[in-house]
Amino acid sequence: MASIRRELKEHGLVPRKRLGQHFLVDRNILSKVIRTAQVEKEDVVLEIGPGLGEMTTALAKKAKKVIAVEIDSTLAEILKKKLAGVPHVEVIKKDVLKIDFNQLFEQEGNSIKVVANLPYQISTPLLFRFIESRHAFSTLTLMLQKEVAERMVASPGTKAYGPLSIFVQLFSNLSIRFYVKASAFFPPPKVDSAVVHIEWRKRPIVEPSDEEWLKKVARGCFGYRRKTLTNALRHSDLSLPNDLESRIRKIGIDPKRRPETLSIQEFVGLAEILKS
Ligand code: SAM
Repeated sequence: MASIRRELKEHGLVPRKRLGQHFLVDRNILSKVIRTAQVEKEDVVLEIGPGLGEMTTALAKKAKKVIAVEIDSTLAEILKKKLAGVPHVEVIKKDVLKIDFNQLFEQEGNSIKVVANLPYQISTPLLFRFIESRHAFSTLTLMLQKEVAERMVASPGTKAYGPLSIFVQLFSNLSIRFYVKASAFFPPPKVDSAVVHIEWRKRPIVEPSDEEWLKKVARGCFGYRRKTLTNALRHSDLSLPNDLESRIRKIGIDPKRRPETLSIQEFVGLAEILKS
């Protein structure tokens, strides 16, 4: 995969930082990602940011279909030409944040497996979009910035725990499968990476009645994670009931606790009583 450097040079391409273009050049890591994704021959795979298509080619050998979404028009054109003879690969030149996953799901009539070496700057908003459209996907195998992966699996009371941990854990079983050194990429990013595997739960840990509201409450609280729960809520821009403290006490939570100590179940309970 030293050929990636050569290929970039041949096409006169300079990796674009703004688009998180750090190409995976370690073949062992590529194989490990593919193994983690457990792609079977009946699977439809969505690959985000295929770049020069090393992973796309490997996925195409295993899957029924690969849909590869690339924002960079030059890379998308190169990839379309490269894979012109592989009819079960569809290259879409588009910002993945603008893809309607529900429509994609209806079109494919199948749960989709996501496999991606993600552009780091869009990973958090994209993860929230995956959660919103979770029925469209069966599993997700994602290479992410190590810090983001650690936020996803973080437990209450830790520095990394926040809205992303709550949302992703509420709806899925997930684990960090392995870490990847920055030297596995060209150009190497400033941070290490991790590969996370996500499988949706049949039912969330607790069913929130309003996911958007829960998101607002979690974000509102964690905007002021060093304050007490009541102070954090009062500083947020949420519209709150006057009897805030007594409502929090009623569900067995001490309003003086710091937001970061609340479990996922407690956050869901908090969102419910703040709404009613
Ligand atoms: N898959 C390749 C690999 O593993 O070597 C490239 C991975 S690189 C980390 C991220 C890729 O995502 C780049 O090709 C970049 O152009 C693309 N990308 C960045 N932002 C994107 C977006 N919003 N939608 C789709 N692709 C995007």
